[in-house]
Amino acid sequence: MTAGPTAPERFRAYGPKHLDDIAARFGLREEVRETVRRVSLVLPFRVNEYVLSRLIDWDRAPDDPMFQLTFPQRGMLAADDERRLAKLSADPGDKLLLRELVGDIRARLNPHPSGQQQYNVPHLDGRPVPGLQHKYRETVLYFPGQGQTCHAYCTYCFRWAQFVGDADLRFAAPDPTGLLAYLAARPEVSDVLVTGGDPMVMTTERLRRHLEPLLAVESVDTVRIGTKSVAYWPYRFTTDHDADDVLRLFEQVVAAGKQLAVMAHFSHPRELETAPAREAVRRIRATGAVVYCQAPLIARVNDDAATWSALWKAELAAGAVPYYLFVERDTGPHAYFQVPLARASEIFRAAYRTLPGLARTVRGPVMSATPGKVVVDGVQETPEGSYFQLRMLQARDPALVGRPFRARYCPEAAWLDDLELAPDCPPDLAAALRGAPPASGAAA
Ligand code: SF4
Repeated sequence: MTAGPTAPERFRAYGPKHLDDIAARFGLREEVRETVRRVSLVLPFRVNEYVLSRLIDWDRAPDDPMFQLTFPQRGMLAADDERRLAKLSADPGDKLLLRELVGDIRARLNPHPSGQQQYNVPHLDGRPVPGLQHKYRETVLYFPGQGQTCHAYCTYCFRWAQFVGDADLRFAAPDPTGLLAYLAARPEVSDVLVTGGDPMVMTTERLRRHLEPLLAVESVDTVRIGTKSVAYWPYRFTTDHDADDVLRLFEQVVAAGKQLAVMAHFSHPRELETAPAREAVRRIRATGAVVYCQAPLIARVNDDAATWSALWKAELAAGAVPYYLFVERDTGPHAYFQVPLARASEIFRAAYRTLPGLARTVRGPVMSATPGKVVVDGVQETPEGSYFQLRMLQARDPALVGRPFRARYCPEAAWLDDLELAPDCPPDLAAALRGAPPASGAAA
């Protein structure tokens, strides 16, 4: 990488080996640079010119939220692990030991949260279907093999294991053959969520090979594309060489009678402040696709009500639909980013109160946990004490969808597993929430 500004419109990814150049260009302190280098031995690190020159406020690094969002930080790994990494990486003779340590740390970071590998892999004729997950009856997740990377990586990514080069940790389908066979066998599936990584890293030609066959599947009503490209590389929809082609592909999906939902991931209002991002949303909407927005609540990135209020208002102003505020999952550097449920609920409600009615489409805080999506509706004070009011927004077992329940209030609880269910929790809900082998879309 050369010093000085580079035309942001030409995509190029930067990783650990470009750290010295990034540090020189943007004035990153040596100590911060070395931390990024060490932590990125374990966790994936990838940025691009747009993220570096348009999103990060370098005067505020390392505290800047966009810097925290994309650069590995001190505190993401246990101090002892970081010390051992520093020692082993300084000695070129210890490569094998270093590899073992990295593998050991990754395994301790819960690389596949919420039972993705145990419970979500669907089977056909007794064999697993590669590159699919089926958790909820009507929705299948499809992971195209060529879309298993992103324009930049979020430090909090719950799919970080997809990016660290371990084949055992990856979901990836070489082509849609398995998906089509599965859909033919499971006509109850009406939604296909194409996800990754980020499917929008694929060229339009490649994406077309994955999407076009779906248009002939009558039982599929909705195609969703999970993407952070509008935030990390909006040129994908504006000036990339095949930007217009991808918009024509979106139009084709809509013309085939399918709902096309672009599930856009925005973590901070700054991501919608740039002209290219706003233009990307405008162009996507002009195809007939609907843009839904979602992101987790993350300490050091967006853990205050004013940020969420500004984000949701910006989404509404761009013609997009605020959809989900998620709770950070129990994986990777979870402890570094976690916001207790009590605080998450306060932040959500304080931001929600500021919204015009049309932006109150947003739901949260939501835990996407093993039994399903659980929303924290608030805190209830009773003569017996305080309780979280919770509800199953989505569930592996459709009979549980929409059911409310309570758990004892605990100011530190940050995930479903930390909660003590109230004695009045119905037995079927309690069994699902407390780890009975889950019934899922895949197992139905
Ligand atoms: S864009 Fe999504 S899949 Fe990619 S790193 Fe961020 S959270 Fe993970």
